[in-house]
Amino acid sequence: MTTTTVMRRQLFINGEWRDAANGKTLDVVNPATEEVIACVASAGQSDVDAAVAAARAALDGPWGRLSARERGRLIWKIGEKLIEKADEIARLETLHNGKPIFESRQIEVPAAAECFQYYAGWADKIHGETIPVKGNFLTYTLREPVGVIAAIVPWNFPLLLTSWKVGPALACGNTVIIKPASQTPLTALALAEIGQDVGLPPGVLNVITGPGSEVGRMIVEHPGIDKIAFTGDTSTGKGIMRESADTLKKITLELGGKSPNIVFPDADIEAAVRGATTGIFYGKGEVCAAGSRLLVDKSIKNEFIDKVAARARKIVPGDPLDPKTRLGAISSKQQLETDLRYIETAQKEGATLVAGGGRVDIGTGRGFFLAPTIFDGVTPEMTIAREEIFGPVLAAIEFADVDEAIARANNSSYGLAAAIWTRDIKKAHYVARKLQAGTVWINTYNVYDTAAPFGGYKQSGFGREMSVHALDHYTQVKSVWVDLNQ
Ligand code: NDP
Repeated sequence: MTTTTVMRRQLFINGEWRDAANGKTLDVVNPATEEVIACVASAGQSDVDAAVAAARAALDGPWGRLSARERGRLIWKIGEKLIEKADEIARLETLHNGKPIFESRQIEVPAAAECFQYYAGWADKIHGETIPVKGNFLTYTLREPVGVIAAIVPWNFPLLLTSWKVGPALACGNTVIIKPASQTPLTALALAEIGQDVGLPPGVLNVITGPGSEVGRMIVEHPGIDKIAFTGDTSTGKGIMRESADTLKKITLELGGKSPNIVFPDADIEAAVRGATTGIFYGKGEVCAAGSRLLVDKSIKNEFIDKVAARARKIVPGDPLDPKTRLGAISSKQQLETDLRYIETAQKEGATLVAGGGRVDIGTGRGFFLAPTIFDGVTPEMTIAREEIFGPVLAAIEFADVDEAIARANNSSYGLAAAIWTRDIKKAHYVARKLQAGTVWINTYNVYDTAAPFGGYKQSGFGREMSVHALDHYTQVKSVWVDLNQ
């Protein structure tokens, strides 16, 4: 499982690769081997200023003058290049994040490419309207770009979550500064290379790497940035909201979750068992929409948990670069410690451990691997029922009837996603309406499509990514009045 020599990566500003002005760098670690795999530039204030200046200049430069259709063609080509380079990019994604190559290669990179191609199609279909106002006027609207967008991205789906922001931002004619997570900057930098290859004008797509607490904050406070599109922790999102107030930036926040996966006794039990398992163990549970609360009707709970636990025990963590691996390495030592702390807390608070519960050695003596973990007997007030763990740890909670299932599902400060398993069509739609969540899956889990909106209720954030709805967040509407009186 040895990787390669340490890669060196610079900042990408105004179409050029450059070191941070202060010469600082930061190391990127492969969580499966604990080796340093890359050394990337760590930006300072003058680099952020340079990226903002480049992004602003590009708005009024060749990018701003490009026809919408031509813009769409360039965005389409980004998707094509992602597919062309899918093996290389998927490998980078796996190296810095620890996710199985199966997920990076078969799911994440193709989904990112599709996102660009979906928004490429929108570029020349974003238009205003003529409005029948009172009086003798021609009144119409223009949908204009917001301006310079900062995309602040976390480490769990580094490329895909970048694409969800960059795709619509470019389609609407904005320019972008990407701030990837410090743990996983490599695929955003690869995307910058692709932008260069397809001929995006300088300044349209910039990548600034460096710690969120410093460079992230500089971005959030910068008067030259018009909008922040953020995905990450709820507390970071709250800080961004506070700190962007002085410059009155537009913001969209896609934050944490504690999503309920609700199983009624009339469900297709085998399908629900599969859904409960992939709902929490796909992506190592480092998924904002992970089905981390399994709510099961008490009449079937024991049998159901036994089946989920049996499946979980068969999911053995392994080398993320092995195409057969389905559970990779936890993304960082810090995240592994967080997961282990929650496991310990669950036991102290009286939950029953029925699978996993500890670190795993995959035979190399290195890497941050954790066994798929399931707790039964979890009550709504326990810490693992309330807080986002962001790891492969499932909390099973029972309910007595439909009303209690809904009440327990909604008993959370979060509201990102939820799922319902039942064969009763009326019950399915009734419960879907009652759930406080931005996405509700019925008899499935973790399905996404660029054409379907995704985002949170309650403290899971606001704004929607993907779909036609994202376009609203990357455009502003101008009303134009023409006096037609003679
Ligand atoms: P953060 O929210 O801190 O990181 C997300 C992004 O924000 C990163 O690019 C980070 O940069 C940047 N950032 C951090 N602080 C600031 C700041 N003050 N201003 C601007 N940008 C900032 O998540 P963590 O990586 O710390 O993860 C902590 C927990 O967050 C996880 O355990 C998980 O529970 C949750 N999380 C949720 C995600 C989701 O999709 N909902 C995604 C990731 C995490 P840098 O990496 O350099 O710190």
